[in-house]
Amino acid sequence: VIVDLHAHTSLRSNCSQASLEQLVADARAAGLDALCVTEHDVRWSDEELADASRALGFPLIGGVELTTDVGHVLVFGPLRRPLWAGYTFARLVEEVERTGTALVLPHPLRRHAGERAIKGGRTPPEPAEVAAWPQWQAVHAIEVASTQTSPLEQRLVAETLRLAPRPTVGASDAHAPGRVGTYATVVEATVRDAAGLAEAIRAGHVRATPAGS
Ligand SMILES: [Zn+2]
Ligand SMILES: [Zn+2]
Repeated sequence: VIVDLHAHTSLRSNCSQASLEQLVADARAAGLDALCVTEHDVRWSDEELADASRALGFPLIGGVELTTDVGHVLVFGPLRRPLWAGYTFARLVEEVERTGTALVLPHPLRRHAGERAIKGGRTPPEPAEVAAWPQWQAVHAIEVASTQTSPLEQRLVAETLRLAPRPTVGASDAHAPGRVGTYATVVEATVRDAAGLAEAIRAGHVRATPAGS
């Protein structure tokens, strides 16, 4: 199945200009099989998402984009601490090792080679440096491209993957209409809910769709 693993609605993410209805219309137009709703540090409840999925006639899967000390991390599956209590990356990794929850690293280079970082005078890291980061090694998959990453970021991620291969995903990180499906992920499994998706990600049964396909 083909899934967009990363999108924000205006209802729950201040930074987004797209309603869930718009995101789903885009997902359908792009031929996706499911869409993940991943707001910043807040979740849709399972019931809310199931209701919306039924109303819109499209498979929706819940996740959350958690803010940690190393930047954002996409989380699929339950967490033990309330989201408002926050997580360090080390604590997150320690917990999901025991719970079966899956972690994906979105925009891995944003803080170091994103547009703002470059404008601020930062020198982009070498791929060997990136490959040594705990967040590169300890997540279950790396987001290789989205509408929120620059060509430089995407190139550095590709170079690091050649050096230190990891399972990959593509995702829109949609914050506006017309973005969902621009990048997506092939999941080699039947995915009905977050638990099934987490299992597939943890097993490495994911890969980013070729850009532009
Ligand atoms: Zn993010
Ligand atoms: Zn995001």
